[in-house]
Amino acid sequence: MTRGQTPAAQAQRLRVQLDRANHRYYALDDPEISDEAYDALLDELRRLEAEHPDLVTPDSPTQRVGAAPVDRLQKVEHLQAMLSLPNVRAAEELRQWVARMRAHLAREGIEDPAIEYVVEPKVDGLAISLIYRDGVLDRGATRGDGRIGEDVTHNLRTIASIPHRIEGAPALLEVRGEVYMSLHDFTALNERRAQAGESTFMNPRNSAAGTIRQLDPKLAARRPLSFWAYQVGVTDGLTLDTHWEALAWLADHGFPVNGDVALKTSEDDVIAQCQSWEKRRGALDFEIDGAVVKVSDLGLQRRLGSVGRDPRWAVAWKFAPTTAVTKLEAIRWNVGRSGDLHPFAVLEPVRVGGVTIKLATLHNEEDLRRKDIRPGEDVIVLRAGDVIPQVVSPAPHVAEHRRRPPRPRPPARCPFCDTQTVKPEGVVFTRCPNRDCPERRWQLLTHFCSRGGMDIAGLGDKQVAMLQKRELVRTPADFYTLTEEQLLPLERFAESSVRNLLDAIEDSKRRPFDRVLFAVGIEEVGEVTAANLAVHFGDIDALLAAPAEAIAEVPGIGEKTAAVIREALDEEGMRALVAALRAHGLQFAHDGAGALDGPLAGKVLVLTGTLPELSREQATERIRAAGGRVSGSVSAKTDYLVAGDSPGSKLAKAQRLDVAVIGEAELLALLVSSAPG
Ligand SMILES: [Zn+2]
Repeated sequence: MTRGQTPAAQAQRLRVQLDRANHRYYALDDPEISDEAYDALLDELRRLEAEHPDLVTPDSPTQRVGAAPVDRLQKVEHLQAMLSLPNVRAAEELRQWVARMRAHLAREGIEDPAIEYVVEPKVDGLAISLIYRDGVLDRGATRGDGRIGEDVTHNLRTIASIPHRIEGAPALLEVRGEVYMSLHDFTALNERRAQAGESTFMNPRNSAAGTIRQLDPKLAARRPLSFWAYQVGVTDGLTLDTHWEALAWLADHGFPVNGDVALKTSEDDVIAQCQSWEKRRGALDFEIDGAVVKVSDLGLQRRLGSVGRDPRWAVAWKFAPTTAVTKLEAIRWNVGRSGDLHPFAVLEPVRVGGVTIKLATLHNEEDLRRKDIRPGEDVIVLRAGDVIPQVVSPAPHVAEHRRRPPRPRPPARCPFCDTQTVKPEGVVFTRCPNRDCPERRWQLLTHFCSRGGMDIAGLGDKQVAMLQKRELVRTPADFYTLTEEQLLPLERFAESSVRNLLDAIEDSKRRPFDRVLFAVGIEEVGEVTAANLAVHFGDIDALLAAPAEAIAEVPGIGEKTAAVIREALDEEGMRALVAALRAHGLQFAHDGAGALDGPLAGKVLVLTGTLPELSREQATERIRAAGGRVSGSVSAKTDYLVAGDSPGSKLAKAQRLDVAVIGEAELLALLVSSAPG
């Protein structure tokens, strides 16, 4: 130990040495000190921190494995939506993409620009957003739905190739990348698990995803995850001109960047690069399911903007999916919460793309009929990326069969409650009409407790099934009358977890209105539709009273869907459920908790004209997420009018009423400058 240094200075020196060693080892793959020397430094830092607990910082290398478990994964809002990429599957489609871009730029007055492309392998892992504040890793989150992800900082800290601290960083820096498991690490992990009598993982992506969502970072620390940075997201204080430059900046600042990333100047070179990776995908130590092609110039990216959720300036070149032939053993049927019978295929186990498949999805009866697959015959199954395998068609040789087995038919009686099934005119699904069908009830109950719904920790599928079997719970409202006395005698409910469970149930009463709307299981109402309904109608009374035509005015809801929603809302069971949940104190009005503390809390904004980057929907989403409200018309109560190209009469009115008029850039600044931190 160096004499004359304060413990704080010693700790700092050790951390710098360890960070540097980590960087050399993981990011550059070029270690400068031995493993033993590394361990000795780490031990010294641990000893020092044990003696001086006040010196422990969250970014200390010792904290990579030492953080405490969390109770649950918190949902977090991304500073900027993590967009999905449109796909191309062939050279011709890539050329069409380029042609569309050039046409768009020409309309913007940019004739025939030279375009540089960055081509990156599309690693089959999990997209992650890392936020650094003043150079220190502050938060890491999964992509989630692109807008809301899950906070998995505790696990990301255990990944050695993710820097905890970076030198010379701007005040705010978002780094996006992929967490994955190398094939070599994956095989070793599965071997270890098999030897220990533990279950093995299906594939590297699966094990990476499962690991990153663990509550206890000690588990994550024991599994060998890796990280590749592929994008600089939101920043404050860093100016970059091209994506290629951004990748170089990331590499210079300690982030691992995939060494295969390439800069290309012509479509032909881009296509050749994608095709060469496709050929040698089997030779890599990680799974890739395609290549990502991005326009490098960030100025051009901005001019190109996005269409809906897809950026115009990037595409994913998807490799041909993997298929196999196997025997279809049987068609079985599930029952959904609204009674629909869903077919699925039971297959003779087969390896496809490195995974053994036993079950495959079939969307509905129509799908089954169209594909004309029959139990007892061979079928082609397809597994594309991580998507659930699908049955595509009968195997080609089936056509030679003289006599084919009979077509599978939906069961005449519900496999769960034995009620006679029905098939209403013009409907795709055969149904179990029994509202008391235990499977239908179970599906609704588990949906209600699920993460997108009331998110009640401790009420998983099995616990719900048990409560249902003991007749303690029939409808979701019954969760709110459960008592300690009822739960304590049950298996799986130890004393402490009963307390926690009841707390979690109580806590769920604070979930905002849109989550409640999703959780009650109205047909056709997913998370996004629920949020739109909540904002549009404001409270449940307005929604319950709204005619179908009014529901059809909500963004994203067409006339047909509106009619289905209207009918679902009128069902006696739904009315009773809403009344009961309301009596228990759940949120049935918008504007409750959640957005109250956002940077735009309490502000009313109006949008007009075409914004350069954000679609109307995206702008609305971002404003809402920041606590603001988007109104359709300008009034004296309006705080800001956000005006884009060719604004309407709203602009004149805003000027008359002296309402502040801002552009998209100012809106983004409002959202980012006051982002949490
Ligand atoms: Zn049934």
